[in-house]
Amino acid sequence: MKELVVISGKGGTGKTSITAAFASLAKNTVLADCDVDAADLHLVLEPKIRHQSDFSGGKQASIVTEKCIGCGRCAKMCRFDAIKFDGMGNDIVGKTYTIDPVSCEGCKVCVEFCPADAIAFEPAINGKWFISDTRFGPMVHAKLGIAEENSGKLVTLIRKEAKKIADEQNKDLLIIDGSPGIGCPVIASITGADLALVVTEPTLSGIHDLERVAQLTANFGIKTLVCVNKADINPEMTEKIEKDAKEKGLKVVGKIPYDESFTKAQIMKATLIEYTGGNIAEKLKSMFREITYTLG
Ligand code: SF4
Ligand code: SF4
Repeated sequence: MKELVVISGKGGTGKTSITAAFASLAKNTVLADCDVDAADLHLVLEPKIRHQSDFSGGKQASIVTEKCIGCGRCAKMCRFDAIKFDGMGNDIVGKTYTIDPVSCEGCKVCVEFCPADAIAFEPAINGKWFISDTRFGPMVHAKLGIAEENSGKLVTLIRKEAKKIADEQNKDLLIIDGSPGIGCPVIASITGADLALVVTEPTLSGIHDLERVAQLTANFGIKTLVCVNKADINPEMTEKIEKDAKEKGLKVVGKIPYDESFTKAQIMKATLIEYTGGNIAEKLKSMFREITYTLG
């Protein structure tokens, strides 16, 4: 089984539309939506959920109001300013402390120092993850809770589950819609993948983004190909991207012209291959052929 991850320097480059198009072209595949901060592969693939589980990115502290003696030691110890003197009173004191779950980093310091054993420390539920059926094969995806920041761990979990399914069902290919950027979630998306396709646009920021992402994949020793989306909106920039990519030993395998089908297909909950024939579909098919050839 081979792993293809589609990534970009920022969101909104058409990465997910291209991933969905590949899903409809692949024959025996598992899909993983690792863009957990802006998961939208499900909008096109309309997954039917077969299994769902809570995701816990770590433990979190919470004060047991009835036990708190209002000494304030926890608030003094918390480096993240997560503990406030705004809790209800109890049989012991008129006012107690509370912990803001968004600010709590789960360091456990307050738990260790509370003289009344009044702080619980339990797994926090940061989101949900799902195994679903789509018309192109199984898909693993997730929904992160609001303001949650454990997306690197969640990405790792999604990939692990998708690989498990691929092994169990003898799938040939795992297609990952990777997280954008160069942070922890994208590192979790690409580590150990066989091939990364970087989707970029012919703009100055597109060129810089490509540079940063390509540096990242190079650091992790991942074979990398490039796709320029909306290539015709600035042919000179597209040429520069091709030149820069060549200098770095990266091949541009697709130059996709600007096309309203990207938006229209999404509205119709269809992949580009399903929604439109002609030029765009041919370019995507040719790019996918080259990718599968490179994957070997
Ligand atoms: S250290 Fe314990 S007892 Fe003291 S204020 Fe904090 S939770 Fe309450
Ligand atoms: S676990 Fe750490 S971050 Fe969370 S409230 Fe306690 S001291 Fe603060």
